[in-house]
Amino acid sequence: MGPASCGQEEAAISDSSQSKGPATVETLELLEAVSELVGRTGDYQEALEGTVRLLAHRLDCEVCSLYSYDPSSETLTLAATEGLPTRSIGRVILGKGEGLVGLVVEEGAPVSVEDALSHERFKFFPELGEEKYRAFLGSPVGEGQGTVGVLVLQARRRRRFGQNELSLLRSVANQLRPVMVGVQLAERLLKEEKEREVYRRGMARAIRRLEQHEARSRRRASSDGLTHHGAERMTGNPVSPGIGIGRVVVVEAPADLDHVGVHRGQPEVEAERFEKALADSRKEVERARAHMRELVPEVGGAIYEALGMVLDDPSFGERVRSRIGHGMAAESALKGVVEEYVERFKAMDDAYLRERGSDVRDVGQRILRYLSGAEAVPADIGEDAILVADELTLSDLSMVDASKLRGIVGARGGATSHAAILAKSLEIPTVVGVPGVDRATAEGEPIIVDGNSGTVYLRPGEEVTAEYKRIESQFKAFQKGLEKLRDEPAETTDGHRVSLYANIGLLADLDFADAHGAEGIGLYRTELPFLSYRDFPSEDEQVRLYKRVVERMKGRPVTIRTLDLGADKYPSYLDGEKERNPFLGWRSIRISLSDENMFQEQLRAILKAAADCPLRILFPMISGVEELRRTREIYSECVFDLSSEGVVVRDDIELGAMIEVPSAVLRAPQIMREVDFVSIGTNDLIQYTLAVDRDNRRVAPMYEPLHPAVLHSIRTVVEAAHDAGRRVGMCGEMAADPRCTLFLLGIGLDELSMGPLHIPVVKQLIRSVSAGEARTIAEQMLRYDTVEEVKGYSFARLRELGLVEVAESLA
Ligand code: PEP
Ligand code: MG
Repeated sequence: MGPASCGQEEAAISDSSQSKGPATVETLELLEAVSELVGRTGDYQEALEGTVRLLAHRLDCEVCSLYSYDPSSETLTLAATEGLPTRSIGRVILGKGEGLVGLVVEEGAPVSVEDALSHERFKFFPELGEEKYRAFLGSPVGEGQGTVGVLVLQARRRRRFGQNELSLLRSVANQLRPVMVGVQLAERLLKEEKEREVYRRGMARAIRRLEQHEARSRRRASSDGLTHHGAERMTGNPVSPGIGIGRVVVVEAPADLDHVGVHRGQPEVEAERFEKALADSRKEVERARAHMRELVPEVGGAIYEALGMVLDDPSFGERVRSRIGHGMAAESALKGVVEEYVERFKAMDDAYLRERGSDVRDVGQRILRYLSGAEAVPADIGEDAILVADELTLSDLSMVDASKLRGIVGARGGATSHAAILAKSLEIPTVVGVPGVDRATAEGEPIIVDGNSGTVYLRPGEEVTAEYKRIESQFKAFQKGLEKLRDEPAETTDGHRVSLYANIGLLADLDFADAHGAEGIGLYRTELPFLSYRDFPSEDEQVRLYKRVVERMKGRPVTIRTLDLGADKYPSYLDGEKERNPFLGWRSIRISLSDENMFQEQLRAILKAAADCPLRILFPMISGVEELRRTREIYSECVFDLSSEGVVVRDDIELGAMIEVPSAVLRAPQIMREVDFVSIGTNDLIQYTLAVDRDNRRVAPMYEPLHPAVLHSIRTVVEAAHDAGRRVGMCGEMAADPRCTLFLLGIGLDELSMGPLHIPVVKQLIRSVSAGEARTIAEQMLRYDTVEEVKGYSFARLRELGLVEVAESLA
């Protein structure tokens, strides 16, 4: 249908006229030229001006103008023009109901007028000099998606614009939508920045008031004769989200045998001290073993078995007693015997026995701690305990009843420490890397842990506590509100689906994966249970472990990743030199390929465990095709051996590579030929791409998922995968970051795998947008040069979509 108007009458052109008819070569060329203008330049204004110039020239019109429409004020502002005076740009502003341009907005469809001057809606702007132009054709920018502007053609002589011109104008107007949105956001951001400044000043005033209030109550307390330490706010790395309000339970730093000198003591007194410390250590190990079985059933307390054996070894106690009998202090006697044992074990040929020396040392440290009168973690931590430690260890954590734990704070420790991983599995709000926190607080003092932002409040005042109670209940209500999504698909408003899977490391995670609606397991980090063993678990032990995961998922996909040991995950039984750069060293698939027996044992165990379930095997830290080919050879040997032994191996097992090394991004097309799927591991990919250790406080702010280099790497991998017909997923933390969800959705990831707690929020975001919207957002994000621009744009889009609260709920 053509533009249905002539003479005096205008017509809004109905939706059915959107069919564009056959595109001519010129049309395509013009669209391509516009698309190049829009895509090439980072400067919006330049893109808009180039476009109107191009259109006016190619369509042989005297005027082509673009008006920007602001729905909140319902005004139209001249944004770019060819033919009208450019000094009017930004100055000519008209209301939605004004002029023919306003009519286009009102109609939400193109308007064509043969003689504008005699039209009742014509509005005369002396500064524009439009009275010279008779024919008018205007098309909304963002037709059907919410008008953000109007693109206008004007010609001097009365004439009717043809169907081709209309189709073209419409297509160009469509192409301009993201640019117009960008222009408007930039303007809005500027305005918001001003508003934020006002807000910041208001907050600063509020904080000053709070501080004055605290100071007043301190003065009052000291005049009452009470000692009162002031509130203190500290920050660190948030590793497990949620809010914890409670009281400090201090975890004593382990005693150090190296610092014990040679001292004398009274034999009876020292012997009594030693017996008591030995008995207390036994009780502690027993308690830890029982808790460990509960928390990490796959290990079943094996970690403590060896310690128990040393404690129960009669000759160990006898030797200490004998030294005490010769007049040594208990500490010195203990140190002497431990060193003797360690030396003897060290001299043994067998690697396993050599390692037993560290058990003796561990036992020695525990006894020493009791000799100094300290207990690592009290047996009864109370109902609202927040553990505060220099560096929390897995064994400290296994000592407490986790159901009573409200939070954890560590002065040291990174996001990938064992304790942090377990805390996350158990969904305990945790912040680590808070320097000096263990010295800045005392047992029993009130404390707040904000695992969302990484803030810790020591001795918070009433106002802060009340505020956090409000935030905590909001957070809980918010999580509860999302529970209803548990069984809903992660599907966009126009029906595009993404699979949401859980990352797990311990069997404890499976409960949460179910509770939050995971559709399968996207990453099972098998090294985590390995770290808790005293030696490599046997093939049978591994089969039992993997079976528990597979059976629990009842036919849903399970992705088992082969060992990713090394770097920060180093079990004591793994022989290896201390490396200067462990993250660039002997780790992950490199270890598996250098110890083929161990690798084969794991692959055999995985294949046996998965006899009746769909399974995917994922290989970590792949840096190139050679590693994948060798890996596949070893895999094929395992399949062959097992089949010869009569074990049925499924023929639909999928093999995949983790993309977490920049070389794998660069060689993505070649890697795709060797695998059935890939999964992007952003934790490593970001640190290797940006050369930033996220656990190093001095550079942690540079660790940035929304860095343009990271976004472009992801795009490269997704495109390579889809070109090769492979599925591409992501299992790094970025997949769980709601601020990145729209990008990941828009760029085309098929699967996202994350800590189970994050699934509902990510799902909510996916369900709130159309695939097209997400694609536009992702494309626009890829155009920026700086992190700040990317973040500014994505924040503004989330705000526009009313999703800021959801996106920041776990941030
Ligand atoms: C990653 O690097 O993103 C990843 C998922 O692996 P890791 O276990 O190293 O975090
Ligand atoms: Mg990794």
